[in-house]
Amino acid sequence: MPKNNKLERMALSLVLEAGEEGILQSDMWKSLGVTSREGSRLAIKFEEKGAVERRKVLHNGRWTYKLFSQTKAVTIASIQNCPCMICQDIDKCFTGGEISPLNCPRLTIWIDPNLEPPEVPMEEPSVEEPES
Ligand code: SF4
Repeated sequence: MPKNNKLERMALSLVLEAGEEGILQSDMWKSLGVTSREGSRLAIKFEEKGAVERRKVLHNGRWTYKLFSQTKAVTIASIQNCPCMICQDIDKCFTGGEISPLNCPRLTIWIDPNLEPPEVPMEEPSVEEPES
């Protein structure tokens, strides 16, 4: 792996780990052990790719940049209470199937209680013909 890729991944990890607080650009390059020039170059490159937001902040009386990851860490909390986790129909549920995440009222309400739940097509009652 080229050295630069490893450095970029380490830099992006630092920004991601900083979360909502963000990380000062200077703290990033110091942690990486690179020069301020190289740190700035990395931050600008990440911003151009949309991976990082650079916000101008006043820190200790000097203007600098703080970096915020545009990638959000996935946590188990994001799927907490999802109805699919305990759904008895999960084996029959798939896109294009009779039961689908696209027309599931329980899933729709879980995603956003303000959404109108989709109309579920009524099942035709199965009628058995009596034997004669
Ligand atoms: S989308 Fe609805 S039917 Fe499908 S697994 Fe989730 S809760 Fe069950």
